Amino acid sequence: MLDGGFILQRYVLGPLNTNTYVVTDPDGRVAVVIDPAPGASDALTPILKGFEGKVIILITHAHFDHASDAARLRESLGGPPKVTCVLHELDKAMYRISEEAARWFGAEWEDPVVDEYLTVREGVEPVKPLEEEGVAVLAIHTPGHTPGSVTYYFLDARAAFTGDTLFKGTIGRTDFPGGDPEAMGASLRRLARELPPETRVLPGHGSPTTMGRELRENEALRRAVEDSQP
Ligand SMILES: [Zn+2]
Ligand SMILES: [Zn+2]
Repeated sequence: MLDGGFILQRYVLGPLNTNTYVVTDPDGRVAVVIDPAPGASDALTPILKGFEGKVIILITHAHFDHASDAARLRESLGGPPKVTCVLHELDKAMYRISEEAARWFGAEWEDPVVDEYLTVREGVEPVKPLEEEGVAVLAIHTPGHTPGSVTYYFLDARAAFTGDTLFKGTIGRTDFPGGDPEAMGASLRRLARELPPETRVLPGHGSPTTMGRELRENEALRRAVEDSQP
């Protein structure tokens, strides 16, 4: 359970043990799927098929282990207007790389079918399909792991889904194609500014944590925050 009566479920799926999360609002109006990993469509379709409200798929970044099942899940739940998929436009550049990586790991890849592209650059924008349902979620652009990496911050739930940007005890890799160590540093400083210490941090792999704990104990985050760059 998150703050504000939001319900959180976590599924660990696919060859890279990716966290796929489902967040349901207290009124049962909307179920949010964050990062449909390989196997997410099979795992979640039976659960969400009978859900009366809207389903919104948020992709933190378009690596195969976070986005392979977005198109399939959207399709199997009936598509719009019931289901909407959100991704930052800059991560369209990742599709071919993800296709190759999926094949390497023996997973299936389909290009995400996106209804709402985020366009914010190095800043913050509200996620419109959720705003329309009365759930305030900010997309914080956090490039560095990929150009279109995003952290989704649920204000009333006081929870942030950080994808492969910030983990418990470490930060995301920047040595893959599209990675950028300087952008990662700026993104971590952005997270430290935007997320209050009590914020629950729910990463793309591994255990949950809080922003305050990471600011104390995560050496790579501390180094980035103490860096004087803007
Ligand atoms: Zn990744
Ligand atoms: Zn990942």
